[in-house]
Amino acid sequence: MVLFLGTVRSTPRMTLLAPISRRSAPATSIMRLGFPASSPRRPVLRASLSSGSVTGDDASRGTSQNEQSEIIFMGTGTSEGIPRVSCLTNPLKKCPVCFKAVEPGSKNRRLNTGILIRYTGLNGKSNILIDAGKFFYHSALRWFPAYGIRTIDAVIITHSHADAIGGLDDLRDWTNNVQPSIPIYVAERDFEVMKKTHYYIVDTSVITPGAAVSDLQFNIIEEKPFVVHDMTFTPLPVWHGRSYRSLGFRFGNVCYISDVSEIPDETYPLLEDCDILIMDALRPDRSSSTHFGLPRALDEVRKIRPKRTLFTGMMHLMDHDIVNEDLKKLMETEGLNIQLSYDGLRLPVTL
Ligand SMILES: [Zn+2]
Ligand SMILES: [Zn+2]
Repeated sequence: MVLFLGTVRSTPRMTLLAPISRRSAPATSIMRLGFPASSPRRPVLRASLSSGSVTGDDASRGTSQNEQSEIIFMGTGTSEGIPRVSCLTNPLKKCPVCFKAVEPGSKNRRLNTGILIRYTGLNGKSNILIDAGKFFYHSALRWFPAYGIRTIDAVIITHSHADAIGGLDDLRDWTNNVQPSIPIYVAERDFEVMKKTHYYIVDTSVITPGAAVSDLQFNIIEEKPFVVHDMTFTPLPVWHGRSYRSLGFRFGNVCYISDVSEIPDETYPLLEDCDILIMDALRPDRSSSTHFGLPRALDEVRKIRPKRTLFTGMMHLMDHDIVNEDLKKLMETEGLNIQLSYDGLRLPVTL
């Protein structure tokens, strides 16, 4: 199978430290978009597989020889974060979850939703980030040193809301001080948004020469499988509010859907035989116009039947311990293995 990996541009101001499982890409599967070769703008590539294999046993999903892959939950909360400042300053009402969230080590303390996949494949290890939201710096500050994470070998974007892309500017610390650049995989509609929200990262001709913003290599993804550092990612298109598309991703037998209000019929087949489902569950009582609430999320779990489910994207009405106690009962009554995730959770996975 011929795979496409984003090429890593050399940069005169940096020395590459510890390259991880990178290799040159076959040119045949790369299509450059838009900008002329002499443009200071970032090259934009289309990412794809050369064949349509989605769930085969191809070598690109080789399992770890010595060390297991894992998922680290960088954030499991809503856009404003938990605790909410407004709850802590409310003189009329004491929000129980937000006040618990202030306590050190509280599992109710949640930053913007995102995960880091530490993948150990046939060609070594790589750290693949899904989303870098507004609070990415704070998440990374907390978990990268604690877990010995150095490089960011790729970023994959679910959608272009601020809690998914607001941290792209913070990636400059990596591309200035750790590695020359970071490949980023993004749907065309979200890339169009980034041209406005992060215009100076997309088009570096607008910045003062010498200024060192994040050096991102943009790869446009479509709603079909693509390969990042030897691992196949299958987009899971979902609705995140009426007529707004977001992407979940399947890698190995893990399905990650962080922002969803409706799963289209055509996406369900992609969720079959799922070992671990990580899915949006905003609040305990009902869904919102843009997110599943707990009742709907549970109905979807009953339909998808993964072996294990972890909910994410919880707002301040979701008390970690209380909701988890309730979820535990579903194992006895329905045989469903469901828990809430929490920031910093490390989940060993076989990919
Ligand atoms: Zn609150
Ligand atoms: Zn969103």
